[in-house]
Amino acid sequence: MPSSELRLYNSLSREKEVFEPLVEGHVGMYVCGPTVYNPVHLGNCRTFVSFDVIYRYLLAKGYKVRYVRNITDVGHLTDDGEDRMSRGARLEQLEPMEVAQKFANQFHDVMRTLNALPPSIEPRATGHIIEQIEMVREILNHGYAYEVNGSVYFDVETYNAANDDRYGELSGRRIDELLAESRELRAQGEKRSPSDFAIWMNASPEHILRWDSPWGAGFPGWHLECSAMSTKYLGAQFDIHGGGNDLKFPHHENEIAQNVGACGSAAGARYWLHTNMLLMNGRKMSKSDGNTISPEELFSGDSPHVSEGYSPMVVRFFMLQSHYRSTMDLSDEALQAAKKGYARLLESWANLQALEAKGGAQNGTVGKELTEGLAAAYAEMDDDFNTPRALARVFELVTRINALQGGQLSLEEVGAEELVQFRDGLGTLLFSILGLEDEAGAAGAEREALDRVMQIVLDLRQQARADKDWGLSDRLRDALAGAGVTVKDGKEGASWSI
Ligand code: AMP
Ligand code: ZN
Repeated sequence: MPSSELRLYNSLSREKEVFEPLVEGHVGMYVCGPTVYNPVHLGNCRTFVSFDVIYRYLLAKGYKVRYVRNITDVGHLTDDGEDRMSRGARLEQLEPMEVAQKFANQFHDVMRTLNALPPSIEPRATGHIIEQIEMVREILNHGYAYEVNGSVYFDVETYNAANDDRYGELSGRRIDELLAESRELRAQGEKRSPSDFAIWMNASPEHILRWDSPWGAGFPGWHLECSAMSTKYLGAQFDIHGGGNDLKFPHHENEIAQNVGACGSAAGARYWLHTNMLLMNGRKMSKSDGNTISPEELFSGDSPHVSEGYSPMVVRFFMLQSHYRSTMDLSDEALQAAKKGYARLLESWANLQALEAKGGAQNGTVGKELTEGLAAAYAEMDDDFNTPRALARVFELVTRINALQGGQLSLEEVGAEELVQFRDGLGTLLFSILGLEDEAGAAGAEREALDRVMQIVLDLRQQARADKDWGLSDRLRDALAGAGVTVKDGKEGASWSI
């Protein structure tokens, strides 16, 4: 497989840097996972699919990767100070751990559907309270925190004075600005300074999620879990830390302060990678103004924002068409284009399987173009995982493959060995690295059969409606719903999705 130096954009230095792992051949990567108090949304999916591609690419480059992605099930508070898990539990009348399990399961289902690989370790915050308490103790021992009424606060100013004013190095926030704009209301009275943040919080009597600690019954501050779990599984210093760019401040800035505060100045990640946000129709995706769509709605088409359901691989292909550091704008139009593009790609892949080289072992001109074009696609991946540009290179190859198949380019110009290597290299890029699946190839035959059966059922339903036999038409609809099939009536007749 073609290979060159991997360069990645480090949010910490604000520059592209050559990637050099701490231990040759090994990579430790930590990515902030979901807070499992409500269903995973497409924005989260965008971030996790981006890191899935990064993980897959590091694996393809031959690294032994330990990929840690946590599950936040305690400590992430709402603006008015309630734990998100407890709020979820209250609203759903469930145990907090039931809420966590329910939405962790849903998150895993969606990730599997989008063909994202599971991480190597998926630690939960509630399973690492001892490690978090230990980290608070270390930070206290180093004089970077203080206790008030059973809560422990990180002392940002003392930390800064002892560490070359590091607080703010990732987010670019300045302490004096922070002091001016601090809007955290809870326990303002206990903090010595508004820029300080809680690393352990005293639990009020009605707070359900609570553990004994040297400072009384309480719970960890949200930022602490990632510091404690990354240190536990990847070591005090590790290679890559990732998350959405909305987490840069305060979450990641505070993580750095905690790691350094507990484990010394070299502690924490060497490369910070941040994904950009998902938009819909040019605007921020937001539940409050209805500008939102869930992964399930996107797959089924059951949403006013889409004209039909899109298969998970069309959605994944669509996501790959934006670079992870650019915003991604979801719209029905863009999804339609992705659907066409993906079909074209798979068709060309099928054409490639049918090609037989006629150039013997000799290298030919077209063979050379294929090899170089593929190397260029890999080089784009080496340039900060640039999936849209890699795909653009792949589509230049698609044109050549189709021309070879159509006879406009001669197979005499391709060597047999060259063709085998090209096929392997392109297959690795599309399926192992970009994580696409040949839905049409593998599941295609089944899907075609199902399509034909569904057409019979939809015709029956149409007939029942024409005959005003509402009983039968409703029975059909309910039976289909029971089987997980959604029927949508549109201008061009009924369509269906699972
Ligand atoms: P949360 O469950 O809110 O803690 O978020 C889980 C991950 O999804 C974090 O890395 C967030 O930065 C990321 N994320 C949240 N909203 C979006 C969005 N609209 N677009 C992309 N990533 C997001
Ligand atoms: Zn985190």
